[in-house]
Amino acid sequence: MIMKVAIIGAGMAGLSCAITLEKHGITPFIFEKRAGVGDRFVNAESMFHILNRPVKNCVPYLREKFGIRLDPLTKVSQIEIHSKHEKGVISGDIGYLNIRGRHEDSYDRQLRDQVSAPIEYHSEQEYETLCKGFDAVVLATGDAEYACRLGNFRADFTGSVRGATVTGSFQADTPHVWFDCDVLPKGYGWVIPYSDQEANVVMFSPDYPSNIKRDHEEMWNQFYGMVSQDLHQPFRITDQFSFKHYIVGICNQPKLENTYFTGNCFGAVSPGFGFGQFTSILTGVYSAYDICGLGDYAELTKPLRANYENSLILRRFLENMTNEDFDFVAKNINMKLISRFVNNLCDSEGRMDLLKDVTPLMKLFNRLQEGKNR
Ligand SMILES: Cc1cc2nc3c(=O)[nH]c(=O)nc-3n(C[C@H](O)[C@H](O)[C@H](O)COP(=O)(O)OP(=O)(O)OC[C@H]3O[C@@H](n4cnc5c(N)ncnc54)[C@H](O)[C@@H]3O)c2cc1C
Repeated sequence: MIMKVAIIGAGMAGLSCAITLEKHGITPFIFEKRAGVGDRFVNAESMFHILNRPVKNCVPYLREKFGIRLDPLTKVSQIEIHSKHEKGVISGDIGYLNIRGRHEDSYDRQLRDQVSAPIEYHSEQEYETLCKGFDAVVLATGDAEYACRLGNFRADFTGSVRGATVTGSFQADTPHVWFDCDVLPKGYGWVIPYSDQEANVVMFSPDYPSNIKRDHEEMWNQFYGMVSQDLHQPFRITDQFSFKHYIVGICNQPKLENTYFTGNCFGAVSPGFGFGQFTSILTGVYSAYDICGLGDYAELTKPLRANYENSLILRRFLENMTNEDFDFVAKNINMKLISRFVNNLCDSEGRMDLLKDVTPLMKLFNRLQEGKNR
């Protein structure tokens, strides 16, 4: 029997699902609310090997195992970690940088070019209507809205993101991350270059009452000033974006009857550092496997759920750290022995599953800190 499958959302998860369905003889109907694939602000994102264990190297893995081709901008060979008073560097074959959104080389557009089925743009089709006419519906809208509406989402926290594209001078293979509890309490900020002349400067702030009370604009100005100072340059802003109160959480059931929750509808965004691309692609592929009778979606997504839960512990761990703790980490990461250990850990050849293996220690730290604050 030929299945009639609707995919709502032509992003990372929806398109990965479509590619996989087509490989197995099913042509899906794809509904996208925007005017085109990736029709939104341009930003740079990353995939780090250490966060996707047991997979060693995500890009060849996706190509060899699922036939999904991604061409990143560059490899990451260094990450600079900035704390209040220190700077640490991790080096090695750490992962990849890529571009998203309205850019001809974006991952969104690379995936679109691997799909043959037509995409209905400017779609106003609602799930409630589509699920009556299709054998399976894949929710891939990049947010938790439908999962919440169906009572199928556990929201863990919300957060606000503010970012800009800037021109300046950058080392194209080196992203930066900032932890400063005075400037971004319980949050963090980052710079990801797209080239040696352009980068994204972004901050994330979880919506706790003390953060909500703060003036977001002032927080941004402080963070932006800190980045300019640490990277020794005045940048020129060419574009800006912001989201308020984005829900981070995970669906209760990855599949309800013949409805599949994929990408951010599944809970792809990892609470620790907001990575979600790799999980979004996997959930897209796994939903297609289930539809084609090649696997069980709930079983296939179990490790992704476990990864999410571990990453939530990492988030709490980061929130419990003080500026002294971050200074200690940034300073000591440069010590020869520690740096060799950390570099090996993060490398594509590294075997350790940091999230899984360090979770008991982070849990203990969280318990101690939360006990102190009680
Ligand atoms: C600023 C920022 C930085 C990030 N950085 C990283 C990073 O460095 N590394 C990383 O791994 N992840 C990162 N992420 C997370 C990652 O981008 C997401 O997890 C991933 O893109 C989610 O894929 P998706 O398929 O669920 O959603 P998307 O790729 O966003 O696709 C959703 C699609 O659905 C469409 N849509 C929405 N509603 C409807 C509707 N009702 N009907 C039809 N179509 C609809 C949208 O227009 C969109 O095209 C970042 C996210 C942001 C916002």
